[in-house]
Amino acid sequence: MSTSIPLPGLESVAPSDPPPRRGPSRDELLEGLNEPQRAAVMHDGAPLLVVAGAGSGKTRVLTRRIAWLISERRAHPGSILAITFTNKAAAEMKERVEDLVGKRARIMWVSTFHSACVRILRKESDKLGYKSNFSIYDAADQKRLMTLVCNDLDLDPKRFQPGAMLHWVSNQKNELRDPEDAAKDARNNLEETYAAVYATYQRRLREANALDFDDLIMGTVHVLQTFPEVRETYRRRFRHVLVDEYQDTNHAQYALIHQLCADNPEDIDDSERVEPAELMVVGDADQSIYAFRGANIRNILDFEQDFPNATSILLEQNYRSTQTILNAANAVIGHNKGRKEKRLWSDAGDGERIVGYVADDERDEARFVSEEIDKLTDEGQLRPGDMAVFYRTNAQSRVFEEVFIRTGQPYKVVGGVRFYERREVRDALAYLRMLVNPADQVSLRRILNTPKRGIGDRAVACVQALADRDRTTFWEALRRADEAPGLATRSMSAIQGFVAMVEELQSMVDAGERADVVLESVLARSGYLTSLEESDDPQDETRLENLAELVAVAREFAEDPLAGPSADPTDVEAGIVAPGLGDFLERVALVADTDQLPDDDPDDQGVVTLMTLHTAKGLEFPVVFLTGLEDGVFPHSRALGDQTELEEERRLAYVGVTRARERLYISRAVVRSAWGAPSHNPGSRFLDELPVDLVDWRRTEAAQTQWSRPDLASGSAARLGAPTAAGRRNFSAAAVRADAAARAKPAREIPSLEPGDRVLHDSFGMGTVVALEGVGEKTVASIDFGSEGVKRLLLRYAPVEKL
Ligand code: ATP
Ligand code: MG
Repeated sequence: MSTSIPLPGLESVAPSDPPPRRGPSRDELLEGLNEPQRAAVMHDGAPLLVVAGAGSGKTRVLTRRIAWLISERRAHPGSILAITFTNKAAAEMKERVEDLVGKRARIMWVSTFHSACVRILRKESDKLGYKSNFSIYDAADQKRLMTLVCNDLDLDPKRFQPGAMLHWVSNQKNELRDPEDAAKDARNNLEETYAAVYATYQRRLREANALDFDDLIMGTVHVLQTFPEVRETYRRRFRHVLVDEYQDTNHAQYALIHQLCADNPEDIDDSERVEPAELMVVGDADQSIYAFRGANIRNILDFEQDFPNATSILLEQNYRSTQTILNAANAVIGHNKGRKEKRLWSDAGDGERIVGYVADDERDEARFVSEEIDKLTDEGQLRPGDMAVFYRTNAQSRVFEEVFIRTGQPYKVVGGVRFYERREVRDALAYLRMLVNPADQVSLRRILNTPKRGIGDRAVACVQALADRDRTTFWEALRRADEAPGLATRSMSAIQGFVAMVEELQSMVDAGERADVVLESVLARSGYLTSLEESDDPQDETRLENLAELVAVAREFAEDPLAGPSADPTDVEAGIVAPGLGDFLERVALVADTDQLPDDDPDDQGVVTLMTLHTAKGLEFPVVFLTGLEDGVFPHSRALGDQTELEEERRLAYVGVTRARERLYISRAVVRSAWGAPSHNPGSRFLDELPVDLVDWRRTEAAQTQWSRPDLASGSAARLGAPTAAGRRNFSAAAVRADAAARAKPAREIPSLEPGDRVLHDSFGMGTVVALEGVGEKTVASIDFGSEGVKRLLLRYAPVEKL
């Protein structure tokens, strides 16, 4: 239960000046916890492991412990580092702690491993030989770069696929092995090639001043291992380290925790040595579902060996689910070998039986789910926001979407084609990234001829040749394109136009212009908006809406850089984080990776959530539909012949079942179309593992002959009918928000200014116009804002008013 407590100001948290004692009482902090949970919250000293099954309150205990540390043990919030699995989880945890102890909690670091490492590396990147404005490459960037690497090495793209090589490289990094290690250990030609690929890939990343996601962790560990004095700085800072979902840490993440929390490093004088931080990890080996990303279940199993003198606490009461749901979960996971038996119980009563349904095909399955959702909401007890539909792979969401659109059932898809993966959004971000870091070749090349401006492959090759000859970056070579042998005059002038535009935009960035202002200038100056506006392709309209949405995101950030999961208020106070472009890009890069959950909208209660089982980890819903329970779908076909993988799938099933609080539905389709071809899949073996008396089968395969509806088997768009108005409205939440934003912000007139005029800017305050360039919509004004400096602003967008 959250209590509302007066919020102490940030100024009261300086380490030398402990805050006056106000805030929750001991009893309030321990309220609603059972005995072992309290013990975990109050535990003092030795490393603490809380192992327990799903829904037993691990996350609740971790959150409460943070509040306890701040409030009762007087820990400085800045000395707390808490690691969660998604940014969304971090934001929620922060909010809950803030509810308990007040705003000063904002200073603590609650974040994902990636976010925490970025923050460390922004300060320490020089130790890795990187500049602090490094780019963060996501999966798509990595793929592009890997394709370049394959070209470099002349590899046959059929034999050496970028995806497979990236996976291999990622595994190396998760094991903290650098290219030299990989080369040393190569046992055959193939592995030698892979090691060479890894080396070239790393070299190219370095040339681009870019790090991929795995590098963030490996790089941080590397810095901490190589520079004991840096490590001791962080050890001095983080006195309390807490990790949620510990079962899904990989070796690199484990090493990071170890650097911060292990006893007595040898490489430093006794006088310099810092006492290890207090460590608490919570997890459940039965929920380890990220082995494919290198997660190592041993981290949790070996905790007591890794941290001698560790204390373990076991939680056994489940507060989330009915006994029926728990029995089902326990029965399924019981089929895994070599696990520690747990006695998870609930006093929530038996509750409803699980409802089962065998559908003719995936459309029929979606229709069943949709009808049940209708029924449950009509009964009045439950809202659509209480319900979630889970599936094994992203592609399975489409059928549910189609049926929901037809019936007008509002929904949101978590994961899937994510906003930040859309082409236009990626293009826009590529522009921004290369402005901040011109060495970022992948971004630069992506937008060099987007929209088309007459810089073709031949021209690119000429510029690249110049870059290679003079051992300079691609960007430098572009600037000196007049020296490139063989470059056609027409390409030359196109390149010069491009360079001039980029330099102008860079001067805005250098002047510290707000991220949203820069973004709008980019879209206008690059011709990107015009090319979409002039297009006949209906998709381009959606693209415009998505870009409007991106501008809105940037504006939100510019107006409140403190908001959101990865902001570090101490940095903001120190003026390190400005609402500037670099910080915006960093936020986006991290959000785009791990944050698959959109922010909660107040009206989300009316929306059914669709998501993969992997993204469902840590969450709970009153009603859960577990769909696609077919051998070959779930468990995934890849796992059918492999015991280890099958056990991982079973853990995933355990995660899925244990998300449900009150009601669980399980379903499968007899025929499912994959890649356009229908396939008949037998029921999932996990279904056979459920005790029969727990499931109320509404329809079984035998019932089909009786109920057979041939019209359902064909699954045509015609039967779906046209989307309803309600459905269409729901289809693009982004479009709705963009619309609203557009209505709220009428097209503004460009103020007519002259040098010497006094103006008022929304953020920078009063200023004096120094100079003007360009005409009409392209007018750029240089305005002197006194202590804020001189800014160059595109008048069409800048919120300035003539006085
Ligand atoms: P998972 O393994 O799925 O991550 P968890 O162990 O982290 O689960 P929580 O999410 O912390 O479990 O808790 C599950 C639910 O039980 C939450 O709704 C939480 O508020 C509630 N809960 C936890 N402990 C108690 C308690 N002592 N009394 C009442 N409710 C509790
Ligand atoms: Mg949890």
